[in-house]
Amino acid sequence: MRLELLLMRARSAFWLVCYWSLAAWRDASTALRLPKAQEGRSTMILTKCAACATELGLTLGKKCGRCSTRYCGPECQKQHWEQGGHDQLCKPIKRAGGAEQYNANKRYTEALAVAVEKCAEDTKGQTCYICTQALHWKTKEGLVRMCACRGTAGFAHVSCLAEQAKIWFAEAEENNLDYKAWNARFHRWDTCSLCEQKYHGVVACALGWACWKTYVGRPEMDLSRRSAMRLLGNGLHAAKHHEDALSVMEAELSMQQRLGDSEENVLVAQGNLACTYEKLGRKEQALSMRRDVYSGNLRLQGREDDDTLRAANNYATSLKDLERFEEAKSLLRRTVPVARRVLGGNNDLTLKMRWVYAEALYRDAGATLGDLREAVTTLEDTERIARRVMAGAHPLARGIERCLQNAREALAAHDEA
Ligand SMILES: [Zn+2]
Ligand SMILES: [Zn+2]
Ligand SMILES: [Zn+2]
Ligand SMILES: [Zn+2]
Repeated sequence: MRLELLLMRARSAFWLVCYWSLAAWRDASTALRLPKAQEGRSTMILTKCAACATELGLTLGKKCGRCSTRYCGPECQKQHWEQGGHDQLCKPIKRAGGAEQYNANKRYTEALAVAVEKCAEDTKGQTCYICTQALHWKTKEGLVRMCACRGTAGFAHVSCLAEQAKIWFAEAEENNLDYKAWNARFHRWDTCSLCEQKYHGVVACALGWACWKTYVGRPEMDLSRRSAMRLLGNGLHAAKHHEDALSVMEAELSMQQRLGDSEENVLVAQGNLACTYEKLGRKEQALSMRRDVYSGNLRLQGREDDDTLRAANNYATSLKDLERFEEAKSLLRRTVPVARRVLGGNNDLTLKMRWVYAEALYRDAGATLGDLREAVTTLEDTERIARRVMAGAHPLARGIERCLQNAREALAAHDEA
């Protein structure tokens, strides 16, 4: 029983991470079960005309015959060659391996510089735990650290981390390791091997580009290329580059749909995409995608599954943000009791659901005195639990506390009126 509880807490802690980073493959076995793709087709992340930035989708457009740079038509191609500098760049792009590879290399270099700059203060006077130097011998880049490592542990060069991940993963491929081992090794690209926590912010982004630039040249069906695409999407999200994350995630989703990937994996990609819509303020799109993710999970996994409960909370949050309070409340009245029973009252997802419910109660313009009182008592109770379980400095506890103040003010205003 103890172990079960522990496992449950570990799983739910993993899902809380969705605040900051996004989910990876739901199901290892289904990630491998894809039909064969047509020869020579590969999903691109460069989906705009290089000259005028018109959205081309994944198949339309005209390609430069030498370097594969894409345009909306011959006029843009001609203009880009004559005035856009493509006459100079075409050769270097071709030499790098084509437009996608060239873009990946370039974006990696930019993301690396940003990451090193951002970590400069923290890494001053330190050395890389992999190569033991302060400056990288070849690239002369500085150090980074953005994981849970503290003290003098965990300083490294992005190049060293990437090289290590690449070697680790190549070994798994050479030795034909099973999916579980394969996956664990692939996660060296986004998880620190010392503290076992995911890298965050701009370091996750630099490693996302490093990973994508390593595997972009592989065939579309190659699982490492598809995993690299997801890792890049998550890295861009971590660094708050939501527009870029959007185009990578949309490319991934359309690839999955075209190739007939499993419903479970499509739902994970849709959930990630909904998060990005939300960040970009495209709330209606986020809402409709979250509704689909919720009903898909409900159908596939049942109402007591962790994913279904998390999807319900995301959907309810979107409803509340769009001030559709009645729908949010009715959804949560059905799901909070399930979460309490399955996950327990101390679980962070349960707390979060009750928080969203209370907010929907007191923010509703038609809230009765009873609603306002229920909101205040619910928040008092969840705040107490959050402080006990997660310490007061935890973002969840602080968020609930702020919300409680607002609810008390709404109740006081109602009493005065
Ligand atoms: Zn164009
Ligand atoms: Zn060209
Ligand atoms: Zn190093
Ligand atoms: Zn670490």
